Amino acid sequence: MSLKITEKTWSAETEKRILQEWRINNIYNYPLNDEINEKNFVIDTPPPYPSGRPWHIGAAAHYSQIDMIARFARLKGLKVVFPIGIDRNGIPVEMHTEKKYKIRMRNTERREFLKLCKITLDETENEFIEILASLGLSANFDEKYQTDSSTYRAFTQSTFIDMWNRGLIYLGNRPNNYCIDCGTTIADAEINYLDIETKLVYLKFYSKQIDNYITIATTRPELLFACQAVIVNPDDERYDNLQDTLLKIPLFDREVKVIPHLSVDKSFGSGAVMICSYGDLNDVQLFRELGLQEIVSIDMNGRTTEAAREFSGLKIKDARTKIIEELTNRGLVEKIETIIHRTPVCERSKTPIQIISLEDYYLKQVDMKSELLNQSHTMKFYPEMHRQILTNWIKSVAIDWPISRRRYYGTEIPIWYCTKCHTPNLPKPGKYYRPWEENPPFEHCSSCGNDKFEGEKRIFDTWMDSSVTPLFVSKFYKDKQFFDKSYPAALRPQGKDIVRTWLYYTMLRCVYLTDQIPWEGAWIMGYGVDEKGEKMSKSKGNVIDPLPLIKKYGADAFRFWSASETNVGYDFRCSELKIQGAQKFLSKLWNIGRFISNFEIIEENNKPQVLNPTDKWILSELSNTISKCLEGYEEFNFFIPANTLREFTWNVFAAHYIEMIKGRAYNKELEENRKSALYTIHKCFKTILLLLEPLCPFISYELWIKIYENKEIITNQRKIPMVDNEYDSFIPSTQDIIKFNSEIWNKKKTTISEITKKPLSLKDPIHTTIPRELEPFSDDLVTMHNIIRE
Ligand SMILES: [Zn+2]
Ligand SMILES: [Zn+2]
Repeated sequence: MSLKITEKTWSAETEKRILQEWRINNIYNYPLNDEINEKNFVIDTPPPYPSGRPWHIGAAAHYSQIDMIARFARLKGLKVVFPIGIDRNGIPVEMHTEKKYKIRMRNTERREFLKLCKITLDETENEFIEILASLGLSANFDEKYQTDSSTYRAFTQSTFIDMWNRGLIYLGNRPNNYCIDCGTTIADAEINYLDIETKLVYLKFYSKQIDNYITIATTRPELLFACQAVIVNPDDERYDNLQDTLLKIPLFDREVKVIPHLSVDKSFGSGAVMICSYGDLNDVQLFRELGLQEIVSIDMNGRTTEAAREFSGLKIKDARTKIIEELTNRGLVEKIETIIHRTPVCERSKTPIQIISLEDYYLKQVDMKSELLNQSHTMKFYPEMHRQILTNWIKSVAIDWPISRRRYYGTEIPIWYCTKCHTPNLPKPGKYYRPWEENPPFEHCSSCGNDKFEGEKRIFDTWMDSSVTPLFVSKFYKDKQFFDKSYPAALRPQGKDIVRTWLYYTMLRCVYLTDQIPWEGAWIMGYGVDEKGEKMSKSKGNVIDPLPLIKKYGADAFRFWSASETNVGYDFRCSELKIQGAQKFLSKLWNIGRFISNFEIIEENNKPQVLNPTDKWILSELSNTISKCLEGYEEFNFFIPANTLREFTWNVFAAHYIEMIKGRAYNKELEENRKSALYTIHKCFKTILLLLEPLCPFISYELWIKIYENKEIITNQRKIPMVDNEYDSFIPSTQDIIKFNSEIWNKKKTTISEITKKPLSLKDPIHTTIPRELEPFSDDLVTMHNIIRE
């Protein structure tokens, strides 16, 4: 007998060699058999944004778990399509490039700026792909797609042209969220809320009616000159005699009407509210409802307009300071309070949002709300509790989606305008178009026949690109046979923070384009938080970079930690100590494998006619383990198989079973009994490796190859372990066995030998009785503990 495994420990270094082997043999990128009419298991992998180091440990855990989904599906024998894309469009890369080259996008020539963005992306992307690969992701890296490639952008443009032709897109000039720093309209879904300290200024509005003033509290005194009405609650007795009278705007001396409106909260400020164009989206609503005339107050550069008279051309902050100063000087301020105000800010630049009227393209979504709600019911959520985030968001949608952006690095809107009649002319779908620098692919205006055009300069909101991933990966427009087998995708795995954007927008777009919800299920992961349970952020300085940890402990230890720590959908705490704990389990597994590699393999077809009761008992426990693991796997909740496997392998199989059969496994005199043990020990260990493979692919692969040699089983041609209830009657013995063994070990530890004057060793004989319920296992127990029966 010789050890098939000579290495005494499992080393993270081994992973590198295995990775190389996988790459050379291309084992995860096997061709899908087109002949078989079976649905593909398509994972709509989130295309990561190559943000550069440090990467977020939560994101590394997220991608590790998406790989577990893919590997489990393969274990079930499904045809897995596991694409990998890189999200490369949008404002973050522009901001990063501006910072890196110390330039401003708007002062840089467009072509030059785009070139620099691309360089920035390429640099970070390569490193990023390496991290993903080193985590053991079994994705299709060879066909990696990039959302800024001409193929992908042509795809985005085609879907736009498709929707345009169906009348789903319109040009609207309406007040909308605008970020001064990003210089573009942004959608509601891209807004965050921050509690910001601000001044609540109580202003004096003079009324002829009462020959006195009333106070109006506002956080936006700089918009005073754009005030067009004051509203009060009709039930507010303080203003009974003022309804429908006029008030004079302080400083600007224009008069506005006092209008009763039920939306006013009597208890906030003075109970009277000035309505300006525009303090927030509520003002927009009121302007429309009350038929008020808009006064443009802030321009696209974030400065006050002419309407502000002597305060024009100022940045918002400066205008506020100056106007408050002047109001104070003239005695028009009653008091100023400092309050914490929940302020809408741009998700990216954290700049407070302004409401500005601009012409933008909109994709209809308000009309789709009930359709989307209905369709969303057909989708399974993992876990179910996160369905609510989507439902709440769909219900809250109040305006159509503005999809045009005044930025550079993104997919161009494929439109050329006729210089004569201004009709938008769209090209045929299929190619990538850059109207800002290219001539149109047609000669005459579809409306007036003119032959001169001006290309659109704007690009799409980046969610327009990422919201068609399930269509792109299933080859919509391109390969009907593949598409029919691949759509709807099996699963959309994603983070909980982008339900209202990525999940929602993808649903909207795909339902429009295919009349079908794009996935069978959505798997929503929580956040990785720090050891204290606090959210990690670069500004707090508590971000854990996963790369050094992966290098130190290995991908498998990292993956096993992530699986055993994360209950699907819930936030999870990240700590090095726990990863170290995961590594200990892998060392234990290695040692078990090393020991088992001693023994001859008895295959299923040579299974002994009669199995020893101890073997039947562990097989009952094994079956129980399989059943629990599969239950967790089916829910993509890796917490369950990780903890179940660790418990079984370490605390039952290794601690008790192996100890009990050691004697029998070496005893050639009782051949049938020996074979029963060898058959069982390998059956258990093979099953452990197969069940563990989705979580820890490296060590499972290595142990399998070293002991069982056949590569096929652990890679492509997988077989899911079956639950076998044949020995279920032995399950109750587990507790009795553990109890008995522990008692004997304890007794030996606490008994001092009369000869050596030291505690008994495990091999020393001991006088004891074996309880009746353990009688079937008595032979193994006697040998194991060297029992002298009383
Ligand atoms: Zn911004
Ligand atoms: Zn024309």
